[in-house]
Amino acid sequence: MKFGTKAIHAGITPDPSTGAIMTPIFQTSTYVQKSPGNHLGYEYSRTHNPTRTALQQNLAALENGKHGLCFASGLAAIDAILKLLKPGDEVISTNDLYGGSYRLFTKVFEKYGIRFQFVSMDNPEDLERYITPNTKLLWVETPTNPMMNIIDVAAVAAVAKKHQILMAVDNTFATPYLQNPLNQGADIVMHSVTKYIAGHSDVVMGAIVVNDSKLADDLAFLQNACGAVPGPQDCFLVLRGIKTLHVRMDRHCQNGKTIAAYLKNHPKIAKVYWPGFEDHPNHAVASRQMRDYGGMISFNLKDDKKESAFKLMEHLHYFSLAESLGGVESLCGHPASMTHASIPKAERDKVGLSDSLIRLSVGIEDVEDLKNDIAQALEKV
Ligand SMILES: *Cc1c(COP(=O)(O)O)cnc(C)c1O
Repeated sequence: MKFGTKAIHAGITPDPSTGAIMTPIFQTSTYVQKSPGNHLGYEYSRTHNPTRTALQQNLAALENGKHGLCFASGLAAIDAILKLLKPGDEVISTNDLYGGSYRLFTKVFEKYGIRFQFVSMDNPEDLERYITPNTKLLWVETPTNPMMNIIDVAAVAAVAKKHQILMAVDNTFATPYLQNPLNQGADIVMHSVTKYIAGHSDVVMGAIVVNDSKLADDLAFLQNACGAVPGPQDCFLVLRGIKTLHVRMDRHCQNGKTIAAYLKNHPKIAKVYWPGFEDHPNHAVASRQMRDYGGMISFNLKDDKKESAFKLMEHLHYFSLAESLGGVESLCGHPASMTHASIPKAERDKVGLSDSLIRLSVGIEDVEDLKNDIAQALEKV
């Protein structure tokens, strides 16, 4: 099955009792048993729910993986992955990553004796410098948020294999349509489903896909034991969203390309970060591991003032100023004070996340309207 067919059919079967073509919302907490332990595969909805099962199977298929697990949010999914570790274990993470992941690592898990190193992964060979016998997990985000760096998943996976370290990739920005880390050697792929996968800014959810059955069992144990599961209504909404993932992504990529080129040629703009540019430092890696370059773009202004960035965002009509990304509607955000405010300024400066940096999630509106919107707002700056 090719991607578009999987998006619509994988894991989905018409409801056997009615023939309903859409997976029903099994809004139930429990399931009747004939006698203790004699049931139809479902006992309690924290452990299993049929709407969730359909979604988990669908997501696994989209990532070319064997096992899918859904969580109440992207962070709940990351939380489960980190709970595979124990005190004394070490994690090496990308140094430019989602602010909430950084907060979870440093403010929650460091307290439990897990050590984190945040490093540039531009040269995966350099990773060996940070590896110790206690290193148990490599955490990779690519494209990175918000600097749009690209990390070579296959090269990092080779280092992980050599040292027998688990490797996880946060694939939220690329989506399974553009990139499949499991195929490039990663052990775990994680998504904030909230973003492109659900795609309509109406659900918060996370997911993990793996191939290894032992790893799947361990994660399923944590999913049930810790209990951060999504409800059936949300699973239904995500199933519906996924049916158009490939169509939406094509338009996000197309619009992203047009907007990135427009920004790059604008006299008031200093720098545009988008992996589709041939002069992007990791363009070759992006072309190898991604099918297209996506609709996430960051840029800063020539005058590099926070006030000018704010003014620009206040004058945009179609790019709503909001946290999050990946919905059908365009959004803009100011990472330094919004998504990445939980990262200390010194750390932000190290990766080039300046106070004038603006991040766009280019939606699937008519691109001429989006371009005109940016043009009029830039005139006000
Ligand atoms: C939003 C996001 C998360 C966290 O997901 P939630 O669903 O908000 O908990 C993790 N990683 C990336 C890259 C994100 O954009």
